[in-house]
Amino acid sequence: MNSKIIETLESKNVKPTPMRMLVLEQFLKTKHAQTLSNLEKDLSHSDRITVYRTLKTFVKQGILHTVEDGSGATKYALCPDECVKGHHLDTHPHFSCLKCGDTFCLEDFNIMIPEPKTSLEVHEVHVSLKGLCVSCKEKEEVI
Ligand SMILES: [Zn+2]
Ligand SMILES: [Zn+2]
Ligand SMILES: [Zn+2]
Repeated sequence: MNSKIIETLESKNVKPTPMRMLVLEQFLKTKHAQTLSNLEKDLSHSDRITVYRTLKTFVKQGILHTVEDGSGATKYALCPDECVKGHHLDTHPHFSCLKCGDTFCLEDFNIMIPEPKTSLEVHEVHVSLKGLCVSCKEKEEVI
């Protein structure tokens, strides 16, 4: 696990500090997107500001992207290898479960976003799908 974490950080030009390694490990362990509060809870004894700064660095360096799922809290998810500093290629939609609230990337559904004809500069693309995740759907079927 550790070598994969160090490798990922180094491939995105981020120095592997203990805090960065912890935060990245958390993302590799859980499949769904995380909020700052989530992370703070999972990484007990971590200072909120430090966790927040780590997230900001990761977004800047192309390790994480933000997800807007309408819950009001910004969520963060791991980027594919193709994302680099200042250039995210996360045009995939995100799926949010209406029951458990988990949000995750649908990386297989790539959406083609045409280049704007005017001089608009697009920084973020947010497409969200909502419904029931696999485990919530299974639970519904049992009942
Ligand atoms: Zn990205
Ligand atoms: Zn669910
Ligand atoms: Zn995503």
